[in-house]
Amino acid sequence: MTTLSTTLAKRLEDPRLFRQYAYVNGKWTHGEGGREEAVTDPATGEAIGHIPLLEAEQITAAVDAAEAAFVHWRALRADERCERLLAWYDLIQANREDLATIMTLEQGKPLPDSRGEVQYGASFVRWFAEEGKRTYGETIPSPIPNASLGTIKEPVGISAMITPWNFPLAMITRKAAAALAAGCPVIVKPANETPFSALALAELAERAGIPEGIFNVVLGDPPEVSKILCAEPRIRALSFTGSTRVGRILMEQSAPTIKRLALELGGDAPFIVGPDMDPKEAALAAVAAKFQTAGQDCLAADRILVHESIHDEFVEYFAERMAALTVGNGLESEIDLGPLIHGQAVEKAAGIVDDAISKGATLVAGDQSQAPGANYFMPVLLTGITRDMRLWQEESFAPIAGITPYADDDEVIELANDTEYGLAAYIYTHDIRRIWKLLRALEFGMVSVNSVKMTGPPVPFGGVKQSGLGREGGTCGIDEYLETKYYCLGAL
Ligand code: NAD
Repeated sequence: MTTLSTTLAKRLEDPRLFRQYAYVNGKWTHGEGGREEAVTDPATGEAIGHIPLLEAEQITAAVDAAEAAFVHWRALRADERCERLLAWYDLIQANREDLATIMTLEQGKPLPDSRGEVQYGASFVRWFAEEGKRTYGETIPSPIPNASLGTIKEPVGISAMITPWNFPLAMITRKAAAALAAGCPVIVKPANETPFSALALAELAERAGIPEGIFNVVLGDPPEVSKILCAEPRIRALSFTGSTRVGRILMEQSAPTIKRLALELGGDAPFIVGPDMDPKEAALAAVAAKFQTAGQDCLAADRILVHESIHDEFVEYFAERMAALTVGNGLESEIDLGPLIHGQAVEKAAGIVDDAISKGATLVAGDQSQAPGANYFMPVLLTGITRDMRLWQEESFAPIAGITPYADDDEVIELANDTEYGLAAYIYTHDIRRIWKLLRALEFGMVSVNSVKMTGPPVPFGGVKQSGLGREGGTCGIDEYLETKYYCLGAL
């Protein structure tokens, strides 16, 4: 196995948080076939470390370990599991700076955003630690003479989690904390671009006293590993966050074993600005909703729909605010946007801009010659976006803002719903009748009114249509990992 990356090791207060192994059954594991993959810093293109690619038998060994450990973990009292999870929460918080550094180096986002993600990710651990104590069953008034009826909540079983690179830590804790609190062992397969955040979480889980076999991190060739996890009948739940394309593959591969599925997929969020809004305030909010994580965010405001009466003023303010954004290496100070995850993402972004311009969009701002390196994409503002453009139809996952004017509420509802996705939508207006009309008519799992920030541990996060199935966070989040067992106690 390769030696510890000097760049990363030097930057960490606790270098043991940087692990270049998989974590199976409480042991740091290398690939038995000797296969490895380099992980690169998207800001520089330099390798920051290597990960092993496990063989099929090693993935199965993780399931064996989880199966054996499940017996004890489910038998613990809920408050005992809560104690372990709270210890994990405390350790994540105590190591926040190192976790943020690892995240910025592997993902590219600015350090303050990484710190924010560590905080956000940790908050799910604390919330679900407590929620695990409230997985109540119910008593049912009996239509059967002399019988007592009710339900008991039980852990669904071994739960697999396949997670993306844009939120390398929070997408894991949002799933794993709920599963662990419910009494389920977990097998995490992080994105190969950002494995080190997951492995640092495993190190801290071990220190928190989460028993061996309960929190496993497997690494390998993604389609190969996912196929094994989906086909494995002992894995009873699969939670995936990632693209709709891969979500469909996993759903198909899970059909033979009838798994509990939670799919958090792509988004193409509309950002609606009503005629009553102050265009400057609305533009500030839209810039924040569009450019977080350099646009690589499933909640990014991808289709900005502005009432025609304030469109021009809004564009002006948006361009002004956008010009103030700084692009650079996320380790430096005062950076708003880091690099994109890799060169293909940059190519895709450039293709989307070219397509829009060739179909009549106006490039208001965005000069790629200013990009500070190969994986960077400067923020772009386009107006005159129409439905035939890729920017309208696809999730760009890049810092490209497209603005479209509309005439009235009915038109904006139709425009906003004109997408195969249904994750999140934003509404900016102070007109209460308009708020209710739009809120009810929008075909999205989450609607945020006059607020860019909408997520957090107690709320149900998830989409409709091609944005997925199931919810994470809140009481629905833990239900994804619980079975309802009905009982009938008769009189004899
Ligand atoms: P992705 O679908 O390419 O990858 C997600 C995971 O699937 C990774 O672990 C990857 O290694 C694995 N994977 C990739 N190809 C695979 C294959 N053929 N078979 C099995 N597994 C495979 O997504 P991404 O590029 O990592 O992330 C971006 C996507 O995630 C965007 O579409 C974004 O909207 C979505 N996302 C959704 C949410 C949400 O909560 N709804 C949150 C964050 C990201």
